Amino acid sequence: MATHGNSTPLDTDSVPIVGHWIDGNHAPSHSGRTAPIHNPATGAVTAHVALADDGEIAAAIASAQRGFETWSGYSISKRQTVLFAFRELLNARKSELADIITAEHGKVTSDALGEIARGQEVVDLATGFPQLLKGGYSENVSTGIDVYSIKQPLGVVGVISPFNFPAMVPMWFFPIAIAAGNAVVMKPSEKDPSASIWLAQLWKEAGLPDGVFTVLQGDKLAVDGLLESPIVQSISFVGSTPIAQYIYETAARNGKRVQALGGAKNHMLVLPDADLDLVADQAVNAGYGAAGERCMAISVVVAVEPVADELIAKIADRIRNLKIGNGAGGTDGEPDMGPLITDVHRDKVSSYVDIAEADGATIVVDGRGLTVDGHEDGFWFGPTLIDDIPTTSRAYQEEIFGPVLSIVRVTTFQEGLDLINSGMFGNGTAIFTNDGGAARRFQNEVQVGMIGINVPIPVPVAYHSFGGWKASLFGDAKAYGAQGFNFFTREKAVTSRWLDPAKHGGINLGFPQN
Ligand code: NAD
Repeated sequence: MATHGNSTPLDTDSVPIVGHWIDGNHAPSHSGRTAPIHNPATGAVTAHVALADDGEIAAAIASAQRGFETWSGYSISKRQTVLFAFRELLNARKSELADIITAEHGKVTSDALGEIARGQEVVDLATGFPQLLKGGYSENVSTGIDVYSIKQPLGVVGVISPFNFPAMVPMWFFPIAIAAGNAVVMKPSEKDPSASIWLAQLWKEAGLPDGVFTVLQGDKLAVDGLLESPIVQSISFVGSTPIAQYIYETAARNGKRVQALGGAKNHMLVLPDADLDLVADQAVNAGYGAAGERCMAISVVVAVEPVADELIAKIADRIRNLKIGNGAGGTDGEPDMGPLITDVHRDKVSSYVDIAEADGATIVVDGRGLTVDGHEDGFWFGPTLIDDIPTTSRAYQEEIFGPVLSIVRVTTFQEGLDLINSGMFGNGTAIFTNDGGAARRFQNEVQVGMIGINVPIPVPVAYHSFGGWKASLFGDAKAYGAQGFNFFTREKAVTSRWLDPAKHGGINLGFPQN
């Protein structure tokens, strides 16, 4: 099967092939391997994505190496001009990107714009890189000796992203990597790869030299190619925990710097003094937004009795009224929630509800088997609410990644805290209460990387850093913020003396002292 650039139809079934972006241009694939891309709302195959072979992987990395040699020689002000141009173009044309995201991911358009806005924050931060990449200077550390540090780019860096944020997650990394003088090879999810190609075109328009932003489409072969290449200096990965662990171990074994963000199971602890209408609104927003396909989605509400019955009734009322449909909207306007990414994933989510039921949980609202009129082949799954889920059930312990919210009832704050701390993940969590002392204790004792106090999805702003604990992040570097700038640079410390012949001390074989 011949494959082509982004817009050339495939002669066998007349759908376009989404190819690579190498050397500042669409690059057709000749691997003969592709994977289908669906519109999840219709179930239709709308395109295929190229899956790189070894030659294409090598070509992408070699181009990035050339791009790095050019880009790292650009002055700070020239680099900054390109970043500002990219920022302006992105802001002006973000609705195009949102449409691409909705068409391949399924999330509603306003939510796609929301993910772009959170990515733009990192672009904004990156435009200020000269301030953030300044080294330090200490004068006269010893007589006539100065010490200063400089931060240099790593070289070619790899970014591997998941399907659920095809624009935001890449933007957690590449603006900072590029601002710092690196060249990026981006390996998007094969389920929604077009956003990255659109972003690559935007970089070109912004004046980025060819090869500095490369898109390599592919599957495990492409990922392993990046992990094993001696040219690739670092890997930034976001995805499921088993793959994050594989990436961390393999990249480290190959001598690379690596940050690997994994899956999640985020709990919301509700204390009896909380405003239950506010909690119900927030639990619905955080549990069902993007059909639950967010790593910071709330998937378990831990209700400290006696509030559970009342809270469940309020959540159930709200989700029965959610409008499910094509995220692109239509004559009825935009729905609240779109479809899941694939039929395979929809069936997996459904199987978790079956497991919960078999394990004795109560299915309060059941989203299994939902269809949407006019879109009968879409990958639909309705909002689902599960009460009394046993904490021994796999449906409680594992990440479901769908619009399924489970309730666990506890009798004390301590029981709730212990439950949250006993899980394998530590990405995000939230507490809802009006008791400042309890919130402060929660913040101090919970074993989770990102904490919301009456905030259900506590994704930090760009100038802090994003990352979980435990099986939600492998490595010691979070995404973006100061940690992002550290990750994408290497520091050199220079100790310098300009000799004054009049003060030269002559021969002395002792170890240098102050
Ligand atoms: P995934 O792990 O299946 O895929 C992520 C990336 O890894 C993709 O680019 C994919 O092509 C690649 N990949 C998949 N299998 C591979 C293999 N065997 N070897 C090498 N590479 C492989 O994840 P997904 O389904 O695309 O995304 C959903 C997951 O991502 C969820 O678990 C979610 O919690 C997680 N996620 C985490 C965060 C976070 O910040 N912690 C953010 C977003 C998503």
